[in-house]
Amino acid sequence: MRVVPIPCLADNYAYLLVCPETKEAAIVDASEAGPVLRAVEEAEIDPRGRPHVTAILATHHHFDHVGGNEEVLRALGIARVYGSRHDEGRVPGQTERLEDGDAFTIGKLHVRAIAVPGHTLGALAYVVTSGGGEDPAVFTGDTLFLAGCGRLFEGDPPMMHRSLAKLAALEARTRVYCGHEYTESNLRFAAHVEPSNQAIAEARARAAEARKDGRSTVPGTLGTELATNPFLRASSAEIRATLGIASTAPDEEALGAIRKAKDTFRG
Ligand code: ZN
Ligand code: FE
Repeated sequence: MRVVPIPCLADNYAYLLVCPETKEAAIVDASEAGPVLRAVEEAEIDPRGRPHVTAILATHHHFDHVGGNEEVLRALGIARVYGSRHDEGRVPGQTERLEDGDAFTIGKLHVRAIAVPGHTLGALAYVVTSGGGEDPAVFTGDTLFLAGCGRLFEGDPPMMHRSLAKLAALEARTRVYCGHEYTESNLRFAAHVEPSNQAIAEARARAAEARKDGRSTVPGTLGTELATNPFLRASSAEIRATLGIASTAPDEEALGAIRKAKDTFRG
């Protein structure tokens, strides 16, 4: 599969997902129309062939993820707009109402929606596999960021903990494409709460290098997230010691405390 990150607004990512065999393509989170349509135009002159965009996949209803839907679907003649059943009426142009586990295809790519409530109640992640041994991809919206997670606008810590556990159970080599470029500031917090974690130091060096060259930090891999992301590491003794979380507290309670600390962290 081919995935093109499309920087939008201040720090959002939309993505162009292309099936290389059929050239059928989808936009994940049409944040704003201008950059998305430019990215599709650029892909059209790519020697690998002209993609045919047939669908928009919305991770959640927030405007910075669906604000470009109407213009993009009109400009490209898109007939299918996927979103959660819970987000009906809040995803412009929505035609498909997904439930946890619903699957569909983009060309020969297999896409499965998984319900990951917490940031919003209808939040979805899309897991994409192509067969043939290629690394899977997951589009996580504002649920899982590289080294972070979304704020709990509609859900609570136990809900987010269950959602992150679903993502953590994916294959370690899964490539993680998230909704925002927050990686460097997330890693500053990660290093603050778990200073002796060498994987975090290495991830910080890689992220700094990428941003210095004007590149994005996406995709990460789930394996790296498991090693660095404090929200997937709620059981870490060092994180708990830093934040004064009891060693006996359940992980979902620790996650709530980590989220609260991150909300007020200035580092
Ligand atoms: Zn959001
Ligand atoms: Fe967002």
